Amino acid sequence: DTSHAALAIIGTGMAGVGLARTLRRQGDTRTMALISADSGDDYSKPLLSTGFAKRLPPETLAQRSAAEMAEELNATLFTHTQVVQLDVDNQTLLLSNDLRLRYDNLVLATGAAPYAPFSVPSQLAERCFAVNNLDDYRRLHAALSPKPARVAIIGAGLVGCEFANDLHAGGHQVTLIAPENTLLPRLLPEPLGDALGNAFQAAGIQLRLGATLESLSLGSDNALTLSLDNSEHCIADIVLLATGLTPRTQLARAAGLSVSRHGIQVDRLLRTSHSNVYALGDAACVEGINAMYVQPLQASIKALTATLSGTPTHVQFGAWPIIVKTPLLPVVAYPPLSTPEQWKIEGQGNEMTALAEDKYGRLIGFALTGSCVRRKVELSRVVPALLG
Ligand code: FAD
Repeated sequence: DTSHAALAIIGTGMAGVGLARTLRRQGDTRTMALISADSGDDYSKPLLSTGFAKRLPPETLAQRSAAEMAEELNATLFTHTQVVQLDVDNQTLLLSNDLRLRYDNLVLATGAAPYAPFSVPSQLAERCFAVNNLDDYRRLHAALSPKPARVAIIGAGLVGCEFANDLHAGGHQVTLIAPENTLLPRLLPEPLGDALGNAFQAAGIQLRLGATLESLSLGSDNALTLSLDNSEHCIADIVLLATGLTPRTQLARAAGLSVSRHGIQVDRLLRTSHSNVYALGDAACVEGINAMYVQPLQASIKALTATLSGTPTHVQFGAWPIIVKTPLLPVVAYPPLSTPEQWKIEGQGNEMTALAEDKYGRLIGFALTGSCVRRKVELSRVVPALLG
C-alpha cells in the first residue's frame, strides 16, 4: 500500500507540530502527513517537569488530542507508528503499519531519546521511569498516585534537577543521585551548583553526589535498594532516570545521511546532506550546534517555514539563556561555547552571579541564581550569539 504527501514530517513534538502549524498559518495548502511513534497528542514538553507541584493530571497537559490536531492542521496523522526505513533515492518512507509513504519534501523532527548508562533488570522495568513525552508522564503520574512515594532520581542535569524540585513540591520524598559533585554541572560553575544543592537540601531533598548507581534490587518489603559505587545504599519506591538525551539519528544514519553524535547534520537552511530532506529540533545539529531547547527550535521553525515556502532563509540563534525551572532557587544560565579563561564569581548564599570571560576579558557566558536572575536581559545583550 502506498500513499503520498507533498510534505512528510517525522515527529509530532514541538518541532514537527510547530512547523506544520506555522506553514498552515501562512496559508500553505500542500498535502501533509505527520508520523509519530507516540500518542501524537499536542502537549508542551517543558510543562512535564512542572506538573506534580501544580497537581496537573496528564489530561490537562494534553492541549489537543491527535485527532483534533489532525483536523486543525488538515493533515494525515499516523500515531503509535514508527518510520522504520527511509529511502531517500525513491523519496519513500516505510511505516511500521506496512504503509509506504511517498513524499516530495521530508522533515526529520525525531527529537532525542533518554539515554540510560546501565541496563535496568527487566523484572524491575515497571519501577523505573524516564520522562520524555506525555505517554511517559502518564505512566509516572499513575505510579505516583495517590500516595506519596520515595523517588530516587539519577542525574543532576536540567531534567533531574527540575523533577527533583517538582516531585518534592508535589509531596514526594526525593533523593537525587549523580556522579558529579555539584548540581547542573554543564550549566553552572561549582559554587552556583552548590548554592542550588544547598537550597534543595534545606527543603528536604536528599543529595547523594559523587556516586554512581551500580545495581538495583528488590527487597522483601517490595522496596527497591539502589547500591551506589561509594558503598552506600538508598531505598526507593521508584527510580527516575534523568541521565541525558541522545539525538535520534538512527533512521537518518541508515539512510546514508550525514550524522554525528550531536545529531543529524544540517546547514543553516536546515538541509541535511540529501536534497529535499530537512531536520530540526532536538534531532538536528546546525553547523555544530544542537542546543536542545525551545528558542532555537522556534527560530528553526520560522526559517524552515520560509525556506519551504520558496524563500531560502538561514537560521540564526540568539544569545538565549536557559531558564531552569527550580523554584526552590531560580537559576538562569548561558553556558559559554568554549572553555572560559576564568569565571568571575560574585555574591553569596542564594544570590550569585558568575561571569565567564575569554582570554581578552570578553564576556562569553554567565550563570545567575536567586534574585540575580534579573540580570539575564542585560547580560544577554553582551554575550555572543549561539549561532550568529
Ligand atoms: P520531541 O518532542 O522529542 O519529539 C520527537 C518526535 O519524534 C516524537 O513525536 C516521537 O514519537 C517522534 N519519533 C522519533 N522517532 C520516530 C520514528 N522513527 N518514527 C516515528 N516517529 C518518531 N526547553 C526549554 O527551552 N525550556 C524548558 O523549560 C524545557 N523544559 C524541559 C523539560 C523536560 C522534562 C524536557 C525533557 C525537556 C525540556 N526542554 C525545555 C527541552 C524541549 O522541551 C525540547 O528541546 C523540545 O521539546 C524538543 O522537541 P522536538 O520536537 O525536537 O522533539
